[in-house]
Amino acid sequence: MATQTQNSLEEIQNFKGKYPKQIWRLFFSEMWERFCFYGMRGMLVFFMITQLNFGEKEANLQYGATQAFVYAFTFIGGLFADKILGFRKSLFFGGLLMIVGSILLSIDTHNFFFFGLAFIIIGTGFFKPNISTMVGELYKDGDNRRDAGFSLFYAGINLGAFLGGYICVAIGKGYMLSSVIDEAHRWNVAFGLAAVGMIISLINFQFTKHELGPIGLQPGHPDAIVKSNPLPKWMEYAVYIGTLLLIPIVQVMVSKTEYTDYFMYIIGPLTLIYLFYEMSKVGKIERNKLIAALIFILFSIVFWGIYEQSGGSLSIFAAKNLNDTILGGTFTLDPNGVNNSGGAFFIIVLAPLFGLLWLWLAKRKVEPNTVIKFGLGFLFLGLGFYVLYATRFFAIDGMTSLDVFTLALLVITIGELCLSPIGLSIMTKLSPAKLQGIMMGMWFLASAYGQYVAGLIGANMAEAREGDSLMDKLITYTDGYKQLGLYSLIAGAILIVLSPYIKKLMHGVN
Ligand code: GLN
Repeated sequence: MATQTQNSLEEIQNFKGKYPKQIWRLFFSEMWERFCFYGMRGMLVFFMITQLNFGEKEANLQYGATQAFVYAFTFIGGLFADKILGFRKSLFFGGLLMIVGSILLSIDTHNFFFFGLAFIIIGTGFFKPNISTMVGELYKDGDNRRDAGFSLFYAGINLGAFLGGYICVAIGKGYMLSSVIDEAHRWNVAFGLAAVGMIISLINFQFTKHELGPIGLQPGHPDAIVKSNPLPKWMEYAVYIGTLLLIPIVQVMVSKTEYTDYFMYIIGPLTLIYLFYEMSKVGKIERNKLIAALIFILFSIVFWGIYEQSGGSLSIFAAKNLNDTILGGTFTLDPNGVNNSGGAFFIIVLAPLFGLLWLWLAKRKVEPNTVIKFGLGFLFLGLGFYVLYATRFFAIDGMTSLDVFTLALLVITIGELCLSPIGLSIMTKLSPAKLQGIMMGMWFLASAYGQYVAGLIGANMAEAREGDSLMDKLITYTDGYKQLGLYSLIAGAILIVLSPYIKKLMHGVN
């Protein structure tokens, strides 16, 4: 077997052409991990309502709680990767937990529902931030190919999301393979498929990680990028054992949404205090950059709070208020499948075009900087939510157009491309080497708050609906979307106005 440090960091980072070859390995692993994750999450709300008899409000809250926990654990995963495990071991350990969780859900989704989810939650925490950080480490400071690399990686994320998001729920609901899988086993197969995706991801990582040279090695390894003394082995084992002991606790916390509230009240302030402590140990320029990173992180909470209606309230909207034909009636599609995977489809198509657009603008010296891109992200998100609002004008008896809904997904996706891959990239640019994992974890922690807020917003919308007619429900939901659209436009405007100040804090990083 090849040695772990076959390539030196220099060799990796001095790659020729557009992309380092290692990015394709990470792309593939992340794609399958997202297949598993989005496959699983795309089934949650629908499964809770139809199979576990949850009310809509409860399902929204529960879904929000699950997602909040998933992303909250990315901070913990990033922290332990920086301090003890290194990115590679974190990723592998997280992947294993995700496999176990998905297998549990596929064996008995009803009885292992929260137990299986607890494994997936913690597993994603160890996997998700660390693979993104490794992408950043393929690039030298100041290499302007980094954003393009993250765009490519983001397309991989969405390829997995697209396939998993559509296929799993469609199998569960009987839209796909219904002739070969009997009704009683559809959900088992659907959750089992998520496990298969994760197994492919991990096998790929295991067989290609040697190409990463020193990237992702454990702290204390003689070849690690940040030099430090070797760590005693018990620390690593303590992380594994501590994590396993945590699983039943997470299971209880996620099953009772009021615990999620307490958890979310505590984890954010704690991480901020920790970050301020780390900030106190670095020089002024590094500190300013971290403050800029924090501003991006805080704004992204608002973005995800609005954007993440997708898995919650939009999932119910899709199930109840959308027709199932698209392109003027040409094709029949499961509206939930479209909701789960339409955005991802547009990302795959648009990400390369956006890469080219940024390069084209850069050549003409008019490429917007990161702050402006973030602002544009909010403006498109807002417009997309106004299009969701507009679905009410196409409704007959409370059932509205899947075409207009899909158009909204397209506009929202343009916003996502201006913010999300750029956010990953800017985290790796603004953080010093030894805080990369933590900062990436914080970036995703913002998503946790976004998800949490999204669940609360979705639940509020659902509350007004009990007993209403389909048309009344449509009106209530679309009123909510209009409101969210407005908030998004306001956030975008604020960012654009603040951009000169934030740029100063970034000390030349763009
Ligand atoms: N869709 C992206 C992913 O799955 C971003 C998720 C997020 O940060 N909320 O990686």
